[in-house]
Parts: sequence; C-alpha cells; structure tokens
Amino acid sequence: MSWLLPRLLVMLASLGLAMLAGHFAGFWLGSSELGTAVGAAAGVTLVVVIDTVRGARLLRWMRSDLALGAPRDAGFWAEVAYRSERAVRERDKAIANEQRKLAEFLQAIEASPNGVVLLDDHDQVSWCNAIAADHLGLDARRDLHQPITNLVRKPAFVAYLQSREWREPLMLAEPSGLSALQLVMRGYGERQTLLITQDVTERQRSDAMRRDFVANVSHEIRTPLTVLAGFVETMASLPLTGVERTRVLALMQQQTVRMQTLVADLLTLAQLEGSPRPAIDRWVSLSGLLERAAADGRTLSAGRHTITVLPVPALELAGQESELFSSVVNLVGNAVRYTPDGGQISVSWQARPDGGGEVLVRDNGIGIAREHLGRLTERFYRVDGSRSRDTGGTGLGLAIVKHVMQRHGGTLEIDSEPGKGSSFRLGLPVGRLRATAAAATLADDATSRVG
Ligand code: ADP
Repeated sequence: MSWLLPRLLVMLASLGLAMLAGHFAGFWLGSSELGTAVGAAAGVTLVVVIDTVRGARLLRWMRSDLALGAPRDAGFWAEVAYRSERAVRERDKAIANEQRKLAEFLQAIEASPNGVVLLDDHDQVSWCNAIAADHLGLDARRDLHQPITNLVRKPAFVAYLQSREWREPLMLAEPSGLSALQLVMRGYGERQTLLITQDVTERQRSDAMRRDFVANVSHEIRTPLTVLAGFVETMASLPLTGVERTRVLALMQQQTVRMQTLVADLLTLAQLEGSPRPAIDRWVSLSGLLERAAADGRTLSAGRHTITVLPVPALELAGQESELFSSVVNLVGNAVRYTPDGGQISVSWQARPDGGGEVLVRDNGIGIAREHLGRLTERFYRVDGSRSRDTGGTGLGLAIVKHVMQRHGGTLEIDSEPGKGSSFRLGLPVGRLRATAAAATLADDATSRVG
C-alpha cells in the first residue's frame, strides 16, 4: 500500500493546482467560481487520462503472449504491473513443473517392459508407449484419438473391451504359435481405461516344452513298466519251466536297465541345468579322454567295429572331466549303435584357425537325412525310435552333449549323409586349451637350445 498515500497526495495536489489555476484564470476573465470549476474538471480529466493510458498499456501487455516484461510505471500502476507479472511467472513455473513431472512419468511408463495404452471414455487412444504400439500394431502419433476398436479389430479383443469384465486377462495368440500377447485392462478416472500388454510368447513356448517333456518322460517310463507288469503277471499266474523263467527274468532285467538309463540321463540333464559353469582351472588330458571314450566304445561294440584314435597333440582341456568324458563317450556310443557291424569309427582332434579346436567322431554308419539334423539335440528326438530303443538309447544323449558343450563355451556340429556316415564335432574355444606341462617344457627347452 506504499503507493496509496503518495497517489492521494499527488491527485489532491494536481486537483488543487488545477482548481487554483482555474480560479485565477476565472478571476481575470470575470468569474472565479466558473474558473475553479473548469480547473477542477480539467484536473480530474487529466488524472483520468493519465490512468487510462497507463491501464491501457498494462492491458496491452496482458493481451500479448507475456514474453516481454510488464510496462514499468510508477506508483499504483507499477504495483498492479508487478503483481500481475509475478502471478503470470509463478503460473508459468507451476505449469513447467507439472509438465516436467508428466514427462518423467511418461518416460517411466515408456521404459516399462510392458505395453501401456490409455483409453479415454470413448475408448479412444489417449496415449501409448512404443512397446504397446509394437504389440498392437499402432502408430503412437497417427493413431492418437482413434477408437482402439478401429485399430485392433480382433473379435476377441473387441468383445473383451466391451464386456468390461476384466478379472481374467485376455490371451491373443497368433494361429502360427509364433507370438502370444496377454492383455490386462483396468478402469480408472471417469470411464477411462488402462490397457497393459505383455509378450508371453517365450512363457507359452516354455510351458509347451515342459508339457511335452513331462508327456515324453511319462511315455518313456510307461512302456517298460507295462512290459514289466505283463511279465510279473505271467510269472504270477502261469507255471513256467526253468528255461522260460530264465528268459522272462532276462527280459525283465532288460526293461529295468532301460528305465535306470533313462532316469540316469534325466538326472544328468537336471544336474547340468542346475549347476554353475565349469571353472577354467581344472585340466583334463585330451589323449586320455579320447582313449578312454574309445575303450568304452570297444566294449560296447564287442569287436563288431574298428575304433581308432588318431594321433592327437599333447593338449589339455579346461572343464569338468566327467561332463567332457560323457560327451565324447556319448558320440562314440552313438557311432557304434548306428553303424552296421564291420564299420569304421575314428576319434580325432582338429585344430581351428582361431586357436580353438574340435574333437571329431566320425563313422561310416547309416547316416542321418538332412531334415533331421537341426532337431537331433532336442530331448527325445529320434530319427528311428525303435532302433534307438533296441540299442538302449533314451533320446537324451545329444541333448546332454549339447548342454555340456554350451556350459564349456563350446559347440556341437553335425554333418551326415544317409548311407555314408556321420561326423560329430565338439568345438572348444582357445581359452579352454593349453599344451600339457611336459610338452610345454619340451617346447621351452627347444626354444632355449635354438636361442
Ligand atoms: P538316442 O539315445 O536315441 O541315440 P541321441 O540323442 O543320442 O539319442 O541321438 C538322437 C538321434 O540321433 C538318434 O535317435 C539317432 O536317430 C540319431 N543319431 C545319433 N547319432 C547318430 C549316428 N552316429 N549315426 C546315425 N544317427 C545318429
């Protein structure tokens, strides 16, 4: 209120001066009362004109975009201008603050791994993040304010949205099974809707794999169990001769061994999945590994095949010995089982240009048609189920080998031609290879002698 007293004084003073001037002017003209009145009117008019000019200037500023500062007047108008300008600046600051918070909030939703769509009370898209746009095939800019039912036309989606019964999520799956989306809707505000989308393709796929796996295991176990149950019943109900009894017991043992092998392979897989990657500080002799696997192969072959280990360099491999051995022995065992009697099997080592190397198991057996090659490492995948079972296979061998190689940072590669034979290669990276201590010493000696 610092402007009030000066303003009143200035107004009174100017009015007084104007009246005084009018009075003297009227005195000279013959009517001092009329002069005073004219002076008073002129004073009031002057004050009103000055106020009007200042008020108009302020009004013009208020009508503008307020980018420039308010007009700088003195007194009353100065305070009005200052207060208005401050109110405007504070409002601008509050709006900027709210906009920043909104932008941060939208950025957080944008960063969400799920798709988010906000629908207004007419089910039109108010906002959506990039993931939702990708999931639902929307264009985050072009499709704003479009009814979502014009953009996502699947009948199941439209019915779900319109039902407003959203306790259970909606599953939208492509008939090809290549992608599956889970949608959740929730109401908020005044009939607005929050739509959340989640890509559940992987989850669906692993659920399907788990179901298949359980079904396969049950099937694999049920078959020998049914056979065993039949034999038990036969033994219980029929009087068998000694010879028959021995034969039945041998068959029962065969089925029992089959189940034991299956359970052992399943346990191996479960252990591989649940244990950490093998460390790089345990070293296994390459030649020892290959010789032992070949010896196991010879026992299995019982002289029906020629199994040769080609000369290998003095190397050691870093990893879990039992796992590496089971991989090579699996491949040699397969070569024996899928190669007719009299066939040739070789086990060797090949260096790779990148410094790594590979164990190569080659046979001249029945071979594998091209269309099966990509699926051989799937659990329970067999080219010829009865041959696999007859030779004691579980259909899990190559799945185990692949797992072991992955855990060692390695690879399993398969080449084959039906009727000609197959070669299986276990690739190991350079970081898991080293020269054996003795070989390294010899090499050092040679270098120092040359030096
Ligand atoms: P299995 O216990 O049935 O041998 P694997 O996982 O070891 O299971 O092998 C999967 C399938 O790959 C086998 O059923 C067989 O059809 C094929 N296979 C594996 N090794 C060979 C091989 N050396 N020659 C021909 N076929 C093979």
